Amino acid sequence: MSEPIKRIDLTRDYAAHQEEYREAIEKVCRETAFSGGKYADAFDREFAAYVGVPYACGVNNGTSALHLAMLALGVGPGDEVIVPANTYIATAWGVSYTGATPVFADCTPDTWELDPAAAEARITPRTKGILGVHLYGQPFDFGAVEKIARRHGLFVVEDCAQAHGARFEGRNVGSLGELGCFSFYPGKNLYAFGEGGSITCRNERYYRHMTRLKNQGCDVRYYHDEIGYNYRLEGLQGAVLSVSLKYLPQWTERRQEIGRRYLREITNPLITMQAHPENTEPVFHLFVVQIEERDRFVKYMADENVECNLHYPVPCHLQKAYAHLGYSVNDCPNAEHLAAHCVTLPLFPQMREDEIARVIDLCNRFV
Ligand SMILES: *Cc1c(COP(=O)(O)O)cnc(C)c1O
Repeated sequence: MSEPIKRIDLTRDYAAHQEEYREAIEKVCRETAFSGGKYADAFDREFAAYVGVPYACGVNNGTSALHLAMLALGVGPGDEVIVPANTYIATAWGVSYTGATPVFADCTPDTWELDPAAAEARITPRTKGILGVHLYGQPFDFGAVEKIARRHGLFVVEDCAQAHGARFEGRNVGSLGELGCFSFYPGKNLYAFGEGGSITCRNERYYRHMTRLKNQGCDVRYYHDEIGYNYRLEGLQGAVLSVSLKYLPQWTERRQEIGRRYLREITNPLITMQAHPENTEPVFHLFVVQIEERDRFVKYMADENVECNLHYPVPCHLQKAYAHLGYSVNDCPNAEHLAAHCVTLPLFPQMREDEIARVIDLCNRFV
């Protein structure tokens, strides 16, 4: 049996940089800057600079980032926000937490990202905005979505949880829409040693409001101006993230190298690749392909000791949690087809050349 190849292996990053990580953690401990504080604030400044916006509001995870983004934009009961059917479910949670309704729109058949026309078709008088997702690290068609949003007076928010460093027409994701929501969950392109998230923004008013909301609804300690949340970023995570952020550009480059190699060298006609439009720079968070006999492929790879996952086996509109919204099969046919045929191949920055070559070879030998 050949050596196992994991879909993603974080142990190699820790092994390579453990002294730096431990030093950062040690500093936080010595200063007991545990909740918010100096190291969380320092990371906010560094991350805002990385994305190219004036403000980044660090929070405890990406789901909270989406929730605060919706609250800052005034989304509430009776409102609708359009969300792609093909995404991780947390994209929709932030909308639901406010009492508003996520309205699911299909993806395109080739990019597998939000279809702007499908989004436009879902607009009603209750629609407040469009929450697009740069899924798998591939920017969605922001230009087309923004045009539609302008025409109908809607906001556009970006879910960037899978796309740190990706670009649309030369501009960083997280700087395009009204707000950009990031996750630093372990395994995302930039990750904490636990949970973390951030909302990037250009508007000072939104930034101040989200900062108050994440901090129990107060600007001045013990004076609570509105009902708030405990969504602060931990100091330990801020310190770890400041270390990782230094490596993010080289990790991204490596992901792009591997992704482009897969695109070039996996030539099996049974394997369909995601389309990557020329005006985008994807960061290959997940390398997802479509295969007619998906389950047989996953078993074939597992027999060869190569781990593949499914992102995602059930589209949002058909999840039990949203059964009350009354969607049925065929409401988002492209997303449904993808859910039934998607496979995620191993891809992470620390993958070795021999592992990459083996994945390519196995893909090409699948019959
Ligand atoms: C990971 C992820 C989230 C949620 O982030 P958490 O930090 O896990 O709460 C939201 N949207 C997308 C697209 C994600 O991949």
